[in-house]
Amino acid sequence: MIAILGATGSIGTQALDIVSRYPDRFRAVCLTAHSSSEKLFDLVRKFRPDCAALNVEPDHIPEDVKFCQWFFGEDSTVRALLASKAQDALCAIVGIAGLDAVWAALDVCERVLLANKEALVTGGALVTAKARAKKIPLLPVDSEHSAIFQCLQARQGNPVKRLLLTASGGALRDWTKEAMYDATVRDVLKHPTWNMGGKITVDCASMANKGLEIMEAHHLFDMPAEKIDVVIHPQSVVHSMIEFTDGAVLAQLGMPDMRGPIGYAMGFPERLPYDATPVDFYKLGHLDFAAPDYDRFPCLKMAIDALKAGGSMPVVFNGANEQAVGAFLRERIPFGRIPEVVAHALGAVPQTEIKSIADVYAADRAARADAENTLRRLSC
Ligand code: NDP
Ligand code: MG
Repeated sequence: MIAILGATGSIGTQALDIVSRYPDRFRAVCLTAHSSSEKLFDLVRKFRPDCAALNVEPDHIPEDVKFCQWFFGEDSTVRALLASKAQDALCAIVGIAGLDAVWAALDVCERVLLANKEALVTGGALVTAKARAKKIPLLPVDSEHSAIFQCLQARQGNPVKRLLLTASGGALRDWTKEAMYDATVRDVLKHPTWNMGGKITVDCASMANKGLEIMEAHHLFDMPAEKIDVVIHPQSVVHSMIEFTDGAVLAQLGMPDMRGPIGYAMGFPERLPYDATPVDFYKLGHLDFAAPDYDRFPCLKMAIDALKAGGSMPVVFNGANEQAVGAFLRERIPFGRIPEVVAHALGAVPQTEIKSIADVYAADRAARADAENTLRRLSC
């Protein structure tokens, strides 16, 4: 019995594809979305969950989806999850908006399958402490973290020296700094190797995504920022690597297809047979690797510095970035202004301690308010 939170999104729909391939193994008992009511109605018709939720209440509910229990409003995801009695929760809401759902899933579910990286970026120490205290596995869905998690299965108690997160470099990987500044929404959404939701695709182009993933890896694998490196790897075949103290490096490879890591988390510890495109080394011929360019991708550097600074700084980074990405997607600011908005918030919002979820939201509000001020200044 699995709840798919963020069912209408890129991760949610691919998870449901896996559910439909294994009807004897999975039943989707709870499906949630923000406002995509027609999409959610279709999914409810197909998967027949017990509970469904929409933050934005639609004008009408079609008769043929009324068989399930509906929840509407701001906290509808959490209420639907609690009512569904799901054993597993796949948390695939985008942004800090998914933090409450992750928190609630840790109260009522047996396993939490985590795609929503922003929940760890912002509430990481609290979320991992709660998962540890309640002995609830947090299974990574993000491909890099799934790769590391898979490599760690071969660890046999040995210490890990370094984590190596691979990065495609996003849609603007080979653009000059000047050209990047005025990249359009269309340019930025053309990701070279993955097909994902809008927010994460913009984050890939600015490499803020890799910064968020360093924070995610820090919390999931209890590794300091200094022991997490980023490697640009345009083909997205090596999904990430771990290095041991004897210099040995383990990598997990596969063609880019999120159903790999989603299925691994859903089936864990079993691997679900799946007709994935095999890695054809003869056809690939070579795999390329390079160092990241912090000058063209300042968001990556700012994220690393925010993690090293600690306290509320990762929350500030995330809140300002979410605000700036939203503004870019609505064409309020050029792409090149995203790092400026984030840098301003990191410089202006006072660092605080994060001891509770309320502290997370307070830091997030402060970051968004500062970002909104910068955006107003920049977009007029
Ligand atoms: P999408 O934008 O495609 O989907 C987001 C989902 O969350 C939708 O179902 C959306 O509903 C719902 N949602 C959005 N805002 C809210 C809100 N305020 N409250 C409740 N539900 C909300 O995102 P992705 O699937 O691409 O990404 C989801 C998460 O997974 C992100 O954190 C991302 O970083 C992570 N991830 C994604 C990968 C991918 O391949 N897509 C890869 C690795 C990680 P609606 O449709 O109604 O807006
Ligand atoms: Mg990733």
